[in-house]
Amino acid sequence: MKNIDLNRLEKAIRDVPDFPKPGIVFKDITPVLADAELFSMSIHAMASTAKNTKIDKVVGIDARGFIFGAAIAHLLNVGFVPVRKAGKLPWMTESESYSLEYGKSKVEIHKDAILAEEKVIIVDDLLATGGTAEATIKLVKSLGANVHSACFFIELGFLNGKGKLSHTEVESLLVY
Ligand code: AMP
Repeated sequence: MKNIDLNRLEKAIRDVPDFPKPGIVFKDITPVLADAELFSMSIHAMASTAKNTKIDKVVGIDARGFIFGAAIAHLLNVGFVPVRKAGKLPWMTESESYSLEYGKSKVEIHKDAILAEEKVIIVDDLLATGGTAEATIKLVKSLGANVHSACFFIELGFLNGKGKLSHTEVESLLVY
């Protein structure tokens, strides 16, 4: 990724202890979004993940992945595809269940959102255990498309989410 002022970026991220439940330190990225310069340099750096490869689409993960993903798609001049929590997409979907710390969750994609053989970048705000991104990669592949890389604003390295995505190139702007 492009070199940017990571110190400024790190200082802008707000750690919120015990949200949404006890023991979780939530990385609040809203101060980054509210700062035009920080947001712009973040999406430019994340878009550089594409390098010189021709990407067909950016896939953003519900919900903060939409914010970064849509901006990156605009920069790369390609389409944007949302992967949503179950029950939110109106058309025919593929779905994929995955395990959370407690219980299960499900993500969905429209069947016609990506064409076979298209090349996509997957975007989310944060890589934690990797379950959500892994399920998203499976959805993209179920449509016959190819994953160029998965790109995150933040990676919680100590949770080893990358381990679940071992066949995919992973790029993260900030690693904790
Ligand atoms: P995971 O499937 O464990 O990699 O979780 C990733 C998803 O959960 C992302 O969509 C994140 O937005 C969200 N998430 C998980 N942990 C945190 C955290 N500590 N702070 C903010 N968001 C988080």
